[in-house]
Amino acid sequence: ATPTAIMVATGVGANNGVLIKGGDALERAQKIKYVIFDKTGTLTQGKATVTTAKVFSGMDRGEFLKLVASAEAASEHPLAKSILEYARHFHFFDEPSAAKDAQNHGLDSKSYRWLLDALDFSALPGQGVQCFIGGKKILVGNRKLMTENCIAIPDHVENFVVELEESANTGVLVAYDNNLIGVLGIADPLKREAAFVIEGLVKMGVNPVMVTGDNYRAARAVAREVGITDVRAEVMPAGKADVVRSLQKGGSVVGMVGDGINDSPALAAADVGMAIGAGTDIAIEAADYVLMKSSLEDVITAIDLSRKTFSRIR
Ligand code: ADP
Ligand code: MG
Repeated sequence: ATPTAIMVATGVGANNGVLIKGGDALERAQKIKYVIFDKTGTLTQGKATVTTAKVFSGMDRGEFLKLVASAEAASEHPLAKSILEYARHFHFFDEPSAAKDAQNHGLDSKSYRWLLDALDFSALPGQGVQCFIGGKKILVGNRKLMTENCIAIPDHVENFVVELEESANTGVLVAYDNNLIGVLGIADPLKREAAFVIEGLVKMGVNPVMVTGDNYRAARAVAREVGITDVRAEVMPAGKADVVRSLQKGGSVVGMVGDGINDSPALAAADVGMAIGAGTDIAIEAADYVLMKSSLEDVITAIDLSRKTFSRIR
């Protein structure tokens, strides 16, 4: 392709909300053999909603939700935000003490006056959160978080979590004072175009792959809905870049689509990194393409544009 053709294509992309950082990235997209999709916020809307809250101890449900929300109050994770939003429905303005920085959650701080003080908060990426409330340790997160803290998961709790995961929910476990006290089920709906885009890519001869930090069973349930068979789950952020490199072995050109901080190493490692426009700045910086409309259809637009610009025969 001539420099003029590349310039024209870059302009066509920009007019369609597909920002391309340079002619090399434009050229590589035509050869893409695999496209790896992050799950949360990329294939899904990133609007997590609590669907279930089950208490296994004798604790009152409102107290349980108050504890969990207080533990998650300092977290930026979409799962944390959904838990606060859900717990908020159970508590109103009648508990004056212990105001938390609710502004972080984009909501009126008065709505959160009922939150309890949480000390020594720490976020454990890919696992959950930990802190101390009322002098006792609280853990909110996945199985890995529980096992690493030597919290036993009774069979009836495990069975409940499995059930949630089979219906595409993320199971969030809660331990307080070294006992497993309850489980939340959180669902995040697919983007409406997701399944059509996956079908389209397959027709174009491109292999779709899903990668996520979420549990394997939950990931597979989402993958089934969207039509992806190659699923890599329970992957830590650095591991996402390893998935890219393993597919690149043998010379395949690999695209990666993601939105989060935890996707940026993989976006940088990919031959063609595509960031969701609504995603985090770090992901946008690491990528070669920015999909400004945050629509997965533009993964196809990007590949099409490259193919039309660079190959004579198609
Ligand atoms: P993804 O790759 O889908 O963006 P993450 O790496 O952000 O996922 O998180 C992986 C898993 O870690 C989540 O599915 C959840 O089980 C757990 N997790 C992470 N942060 C939190 C949190 N703040 N509260 C509860 N669970 C969490
Ligand atoms: Mg994501």
